[in-house]
Amino acid sequence: MEAMEAMEAVEVVENVESVAKNEPAAVYDIHYENATYQAAVCHRCGAKMFPAELLEAHMDRHQLKDMFLESELKKLQYAMNRMR
Ligand SMILES: [Zn+2]
Repeated sequence: MEAMEAMEAVEVVENVESVAKNEPAAVYDIHYENATYQAAVCHRCGAKMFPAELLEAHMDRHQLKDMFLESELKKLQYAMNRMR
């Protein structure tokens, strides 16, 4: 059981890496109390993530949403084709 969980964690890390390679994130400087913090900007919705590591999880959510919408679209197309 513990081994299974470890494998799942590895898979998630791989997904994050492929997202990071394919979609370079923009960087946004946050100036706060004389210090500059670098936040990552999501190129899809413009959300600013700080720390920048949060963008990886954020992009995963976009991907999940895309996959969900895609499957919904396929269902719809199937229903439309049957109506003809
Ligand atoms: Zn986003």
